[in-house]
Amino acid sequence: MGFVDETYKRAESERVIAYHFDVAARKINLDPFMWELLKAPFREIKVQMPLKMDDGTFQMFVGYRIQHSEARGPMKGGIRYHPEVNLGEVRALATIMTWKTALTDIPFGGAKGGIMCNPKEMSASELERLTRAFVARIEDNIGPNQDIPAPDVNTNPQVMAWIMDEYSRRHGYAPACVTGKPVELGGSLGRNEATGRGVTYLTTLALKDMGMEVAGRTVAIQGIGNVGGHAASLLAREGCKVVAVSDSRGGLYNPGGLNLAKVNMHKEEAGSLEGFSGADYITNKELLELPCDVLIPAALEGVITGQNADGVKAKLLMEAANIPTAPEADDILQGKGVYIVPDLLANAGGVVVSYFEWTQNLQASYWEEDRVNRKLARIMLSSYEHVKEVAAQNKVSLRTAAYAIAIEKVARAMKLRGL
Ligand code: NAD
Repeated sequence: MGFVDETYKRAESERVIAYHFDVAARKINLDPFMWELLKAPFREIKVQMPLKMDDGTFQMFVGYRIQHSEARGPMKGGIRYHPEVNLGEVRALATIMTWKTALTDIPFGGAKGGIMCNPKEMSASELERLTRAFVARIEDNIGPNQDIPAPDVNTNPQVMAWIMDEYSRRHGYAPACVTGKPVELGGSLGRNEATGRGVTYLTTLALKDMGMEVAGRTVAIQGIGNVGGHAASLLAREGCKVVAVSDSRGGLYNPGGLNLAKVNMHKEEAGSLEGFSGADYITNKELLELPCDVLIPAALEGVITGQNADGVKAKLLMEAANIPTAPEADDILQGKGVYIVPDLLANAGGVVVSYFEWTQNLQASYWEEDRVNRKLARIMLSSYEHVKEVAAQNKVSLRTAAYAIAIEKVARAMKLRGL
């Protein structure tokens, strides 16, 4: 490994991603050299950013952009702002992006970025300066034909707008250098809701396959941010009963169903879910083990483990978050007959509509929201059907089938390009 970093710690997510890769690679008899090539990212960037804070002091921040594969097109993946961002985690998230774009057959590779910071303790102008400093460090390695960032945990359309502006100042107007932008700056209609919409769509398809009516199904969602928040309201619109939601501090549970409008209003006013009347305040750990039909982790990695999997009571696990389930938990859940829609399929709606946004930017021609949503639904449906078919043919889980499809596509592209 050409990259040595004292602060590096091998993230659990990296172990999980490598495990699933190995299982699928064995199934498809992947060539050993290709195996080695595809397992590790082809470029890893680490930058340091001294930042003048609002009070005049200086603080040092560390950021990463990991580029896993460009075999099938420019690399694509979000940027996360979180105190626990580390190289191993970003590497795993970059790798899964390669599989996600291949699985859904969109012409991108995979990448991911992250800055170790606590955005909750920073002002908007500090966040803007940090974002611009990050772009200044990585500008030569990103761009519309090279690597296109997008939002992830604690980043949003405003952060994407700063990225677009800073990149455009240095390279000329280039809205296609980033996706998830505000609509006024070339963002796509439907992008903000896209991941939650994809999660909702697949939840309805999976429930039907399980022989369950969508209306009246109880749903618990961990993390009510961009992905979880939109999934909650869209599932409620489908007739599901959202019985639990949470943020980083804790969650709310009402077996009769939550009034989401009131929950959102309370969160906005109080800054947290605590103190909401009309529901019990629960821990995030408790939320995962609630009696419900559908469990949707939509926060961080590694929440369902060998320790708590047995307590999961949901019949359908829809992985809206990336890498929420450990392989040991997978085995336990499958043993209990839980239907698992894996992350690289479940949350692909975001990157699919990011692709639509990039396409619209390059053509300087914009689509109506209805067209975005219809095309998203078509890709989610065909990807799901393909995964089910391969899983049934080979008697493997949906996860292994999804990885196998993706790895084969990327390996083929690499071979055709001459490695
Ligand atoms: P977000 O920052 O908008 O929301 C994250 C939510 O999780 C917030 O409600 C936050 O309070 C909660 N949270 C944070 N730490 C938590 C913890 N320790 N326990 C419980 N809850 C916690 O982020 P997001 O964009 O909604 O992303 C959520 C997940 O979805 C991540 O795994 C991300 O990688 C994945 N994802 C996001 C997108 C996208 O388009 N934004 C696309 C694909 C996958």
